[in-house]
Amino acid sequence: MNIAVIGAGYVGLVTGGCLALLGMNVICMDIDEDKINKLKNGVVPIYEPGLESIIKENYDLGRLNFTTSIKNAVENAEVIFIAVGTPPLEDGSADMKYVHQAVRDIANHIEDYKVIVCKSTVPVGTGQWIKSVVKTILQQKGKWHDFDVVSNPEFLREGTAVKDFLKPDRIVIGAESEAAINIMKRIYAVQIQLDLPMVVSNIETAEMIKYASNAFLATKISYINEIADMCDFCNADISVVSKAMGLDSRIGPKFLNPGPGYGGSCFPKDTKALVNIGKKLGCLPMIVNSTVEVNDNRPGIMFEKIKKTIGDIENKTITILGIAFKPETDDIREAPSINIIRMLLDNGAKIKAYDPEAMVNAKKVYPDLSVEYCSDVYSACEGSDCIVIVTEWKDFTGLDFLKLKSIVRNPAFVDLRNIYEPDYVKSFGFLYKGVGRK
Ligand code: NAD
Repeated sequence: MNIAVIGAGYVGLVTGGCLALLGMNVICMDIDEDKINKLKNGVVPIYEPGLESIIKENYDLGRLNFTTSIKNAVENAEVIFIAVGTPPLEDGSADMKYVHQAVRDIANHIEDYKVIVCKSTVPVGTGQWIKSVVKTILQQKGKWHDFDVVSNPEFLREGTAVKDFLKPDRIVIGAESEAAINIMKRIYAVQIQLDLPMVVSNIETAEMIKYASNAFLATKISYINEIADMCDFCNADISVVSKAMGLDSRIGPKFLNPGPGYGGSCFPKDTKALVNIGKKLGCLPMIVNSTVEVNDNRPGIMFEKIKKTIGDIENKTITILGIAFKPETDDIREAPSINIIRMLLDNGAKIKAYDPEAMVNAKKVYPDLSVEYCSDVYSACEGSDCIVIVTEWKDFTGLDFLKLKSIVRNPAFVDLRNIYEPDYVKSFGFLYKGVGRK
């Protein structure tokens, strides 16, 4: 099957690479010439474990190609995936300009039957909008070709995206025609053979499933963060609370780790977009609204925690370990680290930072942040008045505390991901502060 993927970002590249790996002929199209040139030269512009070898191997086999030409992408493809970004606007709603442009570009090059699959996370009603725009453009051109629109939301997690795409918890297909559903079943034949669940619904339901799922997970995080904050003010230990809660099969153990708040390219924007969709529908989702508010307050609460640990921030050297919004990615979109760093800088701190993958992006996206980026953990901790773990990279789980004690100026350790046992860190003479436990 010939597939086109419009948008070669995290989702587009994983989708394109994995579909090629599964034997399909894939062409990935992006308007970013630099990105496409890099890909053609074997350079994968994002860090995602396992993706580089899939892309290189399938490019060499001729099953995966890259282009900046929408015509090249659309003309031979039976199925066209839209995987462009839908970033948030000021009012929290999804900025649909990239999807709108992609849809118009696709419609202008349709010459035979196509299935247009929306993988981008889009407001409920977008599938119907795509249908009407494509229809109008075809009519304006005096042409008629059958086409179908499908909503196939993506649930991959950065850091485990390849595995998530190949073996997802479920595949959601929102479609209105048997032909389109059958084509989607052919695309996901390997996953179906593995007995992975496929949910087939109408287009609006599929669009809602994506937002409802992300908002639920974000709510679980904001919920446990609120409970952790309460534990900070009493003699309760959040790690034991979370463990016991998670043993209840109705609750489950995942997403119950407190921390500096959720970040990344999905939860912050999708929760805000769902609130916005609710407002437009005349039914504000109050729980999701509170989830957003709780999360927006996290960096401030984390800042106060650091301040409580070391007192006055002014002229203190603070080490930030981890900038990416989570481990195993170089993505810093909406990373809580950035707001925490800003607050510390505003209060006169000197910041030294280290992240195994995200420093290039941080320098590029936030050139105004006056941060000393270091080449490893220990150089970042030299002369430090407080070490702060912001992202739970594996590299930070086995720190040499004897060495750290000998190089810091003041032995204070703020563990915003609760990766260490407090007594263990304290046994090296450090003052330890976690989230929701002493
Ligand atoms: P991204 O910003 O990494 O990539 C988007 C790409 O689209 C960019 O390379 C951009 O140049 C390209 N683009 C923009 N307009 C275009 C056009 N008209 N034609 C061709 N290319 C165009 O975004 P992403 O993280 O891959 O997310 C894409 C969508 O998938 C979003 O709606 C997001 O919410 C959703 N999603 C993302 C994730 C994730 O973990 N990143 C997971 C699930 C769903």
